Amino acid sequence: MKLIMFGPPGAGKGTQADILGRRYGIKKISTGDALRDVIRSGSELGEQVKDLMDQGKFVPDEIVTEIIRDRVSSPDCANGFILDGFPRNLAQAEALVDMGIKVNKALLIDVPDEVLVDRVQGRVMCDKCGASYHLKNNPPAVEGVCDKCGGHLEARSDDRPETVQARLKVYHELTDPVVDFYRNRGVLSEIDGTTSIENTTAEILKILEG
Ligand SMILES: [Zn+2]
Repeated sequence: MKLIMFGPPGAGKGTQADILGRRYGIKKISTGDALRDVIRSGSELGEQVKDLMDQGKFVPDEIVTEIIRDRVSSPDCANGFILDGFPRNLAQAEALVDMGIKVNKALLIDVPDEVLVDRVQGRVMCDKCGASYHLKNNPPAVEGVCDKCGGHLEARSDDRPETVQARLKVYHELTDPVVDFYRNRGVLSEIDGTTSIENTTAEILKILEG
């Protein structure tokens, strides 16, 4: 089974990809992990990627595509794979077609932007042990104090609503055309990601297993 996961940051697509990977015995491949693996391998390509990332530059599509091509043709992908974070633009989607890879399903975990902004708002983290809380859904016993270690709870700067909105804007600009690409090919399914992890998984399984 060859699957692609789409979803805005914070929609929980990584979690769903992990669950599906375990259920079907297929490898989850995220672009981030694949890039880190290549860097760790110490190959010439890995050095090149490391240099780019150290300079804060984007790794060009051709390189990302080459790395993903290698990755999906590895023996551990014989049963299939689930891509998370690739393709992230139309050029990468076209490259996947050029590789001769036929995707069974592209799954879009759909969560409206307002809901995502709402979710991160109220998220706080312990500055000592890293435990996370949500002021509404999972509040600490004492406001501002970590239940586990007594550390100080703070919102992370990348959880600010402006930051989240900016991230979502970039996501939509890049990903909406890719989602349309798969919609036009009749392999896209949209799943409501506003409920629970369990419900979202159940929805996905209904689509994949009928
Ligand atoms: Zn703590």
